[in-house]
Amino acid sequence: MKIAFFNTKQYDRRFFDTANAEHGHSISYLEPRLTAETARLAQGHDAVCAFVNDSLDRQVLASLAADGVTLVALRSAGFNHVDVGAAREFGLAVVRVPAYSPHSVAEHTVGLILALDRRIHRAHARVREGNFALDGLLGRELRSRTAGVVGTGRIGAAVARILRGFGCRILAYDVHPDPEIEALGASYVPLDVLLAGSDIVTLHCPLTPETHHLIDARAISLMRTGAMLINTSRGALIDTPAVVEALKSGDLGSLGLDVYEEEADLFFEDLSDRVIQDDVFSRLLTFPNVIVTGHQAFFTEEALRAIAETTLANVSAFARGESLDEAVLLPD
Ligand code: NAD
Repeated sequence: MKIAFFNTKQYDRRFFDTANAEHGHSISYLEPRLTAETARLAQGHDAVCAFVNDSLDRQVLASLAADGVTLVALRSAGFNHVDVGAAREFGLAVVRVPAYSPHSVAEHTVGLILALDRRIHRAHARVREGNFALDGLLGRELRSRTAGVVGTGRIGAAVARILRGFGCRILAYDVHPDPEIEALGASYVPLDVLLAGSDIVTLHCPLTPETHHLIDARAISLMRTGAMLINTSRGALIDTPAVVEALKSGDLGSLGLDVYEEEADLFFEDLSDRVIQDDVFSRLLTFPNVIVTGHQAFFTEEALRAIAETTLANVSAFARGESLDEAVLLPD
């Protein structure tokens, strides 16, 4: 198939070119993000390949369909950015990569927890300045602390397993509890109980209308004073201004983010020569007890290889008219 590959970075080419040796698709690598303004670049292609910060709203999907595109192949697991109902209406199939390497995201999550707990980000900066003082770097052991895992699917389950290995007690919340997580010794509890009983709250549920701003001022008021909050799922799970207020008051002890509600205008680009216009984001960067990474939890050799292989296998299966089962997105 002829695939218009939006939002291309050098690393995408590397992994997709290698994987495409087995498939022989014709890939046009395009640098722009997919938006209403750039959608026409897909003219003459059968499929588009899109990432998490590409726009796949009704307007974009209508334009793609009018230009003869029949398949949207997401190179991501999350699909909150796709109007699946509109895609169906315009006769576009949408496929994704349901699982590539949950361990990549889980390990990054635990990396954020350890860095915040042991002040590794601050120690790194100090030592490079020749400052070897320990004041302000006092840490906490993970062993025996309580971690609340919100969403125990592939990634949340992997986080729970790693944290069990550290000796944490696990509280879990999910709309579909998993007996394997309970077998680990984790306890499923209502969300409010998890928030009230956890030293660390880590978010791994998808972004849906139900989970939008799951962590708002009310949720934070239930959390333990000084608790840690981690979000490597989707930015809009958190009401960021409410979290900023809680960090200022000290109610929230620390924050680790790999995702941010307004990340589309920031992440994946080198903006180091520019002034950041987002005041809420800029405020976050001023806290000593906040670490932000730019949506890199998935970014490992293993995950990029798996994403490229699965995405192109999805396109090939679609071209052969085969059923794509779990990879296909259907309207609710
Ligand atoms: P998954 O589908 O395997 O698991 C999601 C879990 O959330 C499921 O168990 C589901 O029952 C649960 N859930 C759904 N609605 C819920 C709700 N209202 N409350 C509580 N739990 C709910 O997905 P996954 O592969 O574990 O990925 C989780 C999320 O991680 C994705 O949706 C995506 O947004 C994010 N993600 C981030 C990165 C990154 O690089 N930062 C990479 C991949 C995925």
